[in-house]
Amino acid sequence: MAFPPQIRDIYQQTLNAITESGLYKQERIITVPQGAEITVEFPAGAPQRSVINMCSNNYLGLSSHPDVLRSAHEALNARGYGMSSVRFICGTQDIHRQLEHALSEFLGSEDTILFSSCFDANAAVFEALLDDKDIMISDRLVHASIVDGMRLSKAQHDTYKHGDTDHLRKKLEMYRDRPRKMIITDGVFSMDGDLAPLREIVALAEEFGAMVFVDDSHATGFIGPNGRGVHEHFGVVDKIDVLTTTFGKALGGASGGCVAGRKEIVEMLRQRGRPYLFSNTLAPVITYTTLQVLKLVRDATEQRERLIANTAYWRKGLTDAGFVIKEGITPIVPVMLYNAKLAQSVSADLYAEGVYAVGFFFPVVAQGQARIRTQLSAAHERSHLDRALDAFIRVGRKHDILGLSSEEIISRFGLS
Ligand SMILES: *Cc1c(COP(=O)(O)O)cnc(C)c1O
Repeated sequence: MAFPPQIRDIYQQTLNAITESGLYKQERIITVPQGAEITVEFPAGAPQRSVINMCSNNYLGLSSHPDVLRSAHEALNARGYGMSSVRFICGTQDIHRQLEHALSEFLGSEDTILFSSCFDANAAVFEALLDDKDIMISDRLVHASIVDGMRLSKAQHDTYKHGDTDHLRKKLEMYRDRPRKMIITDGVFSMDGDLAPLREIVALAEEFGAMVFVDDSHATGFIGPNGRGVHEHFGVVDKIDVLTTTFGKALGGASGGCVAGRKEIVEMLRQRGRPYLFSNTLAPVITYTTLQVLKLVRDATEQRERLIANTAYWRKGLTDAGFVIKEGITPIVPVMLYNAKLAQSVSADLYAEGVYAVGFFFPVVAQGQARIRTQLSAAHERSHLDRALDAFIRVGRKHDILGLSSEEIISRFGLS
């Protein structure tokens, strides 16, 4: 069957519009293992070059860590490559249960269930746990996978202003009579790098008899004194009813995710979680290696300290140079540009200067909120950061944005 030309035209027109508005995303091809310095071919066919990576989620530097690689090789020999089954048919090995137990201990939950990704975990939760009389009240900036997960649920949905617990209280009062109420937030917000006010959220949940859902994907492994997450940071580990997270970021960065939570909630997901019932089990090599990664993470105090020091150094360096960044304490450091084309152009110039940092713009962030999201890693040496800062300053000078306020950047380049 031919692809109907009129349909092809429709897609082509949309793609053209995306390109013209500066919103077209291009992949850059990396030809080496993930790390602080990587070899990249960009654009496709261009000579490969070595660049400093300022945009991976490799927070603890474990993605290509020798101990992690050794575990992965061991895993292949010990438990094979694939399971060719979902969990409940013939896809559960001893290591799947062991990882679930280890995660419960690390994350401080009663039980844990694995998923192939945190995206799948978030797709499972709301549909399986809530029905049409219930209410989901989410922060307005939650991750796209939570938004999609909520769409799958019959429960009613409302939002509160980002990080605004007064507004959340109003919403809880409004829905006081619902049988089940769930407050839904990211632990660390992926685009802005700020923390959810979990202490206040937990207090409100207790007052109103609501459940608390936290997606800690950008925190697990490195936020909190022992890297257990934002709930550890705020001292509310045992107050979180549903915690989702990924193994695709700090925990080795391959893939996989989980829901850690109250025993009955996890049991409900084993019975009703659709991605759990209808999608393949987490590959043995990732399951086994994530178990070893959790052991490494428990002892990764030095990496966490280096990450904190790198973050402080980088935030200060960019601020002193005259960039507008989002304030905060996490290794997610957005450099605000507000205009998608400017973000694309700054990213391209940074690449020419040997720094890999991509522009983020609609639909990944709201319109008029374009930025370069930089991220720190324990794998960065001070010399990487110094070179990257020099490059940022050269590019900032070229575009004449150093020392400008947000308003001045917006009035010069416009919002897009
Ligand atoms: C990255 C991320 C996800 C998706 O995790 P995957 O395991 O890659 O599917 C979900 N939620 C948040 C907050 C994230 O940052």
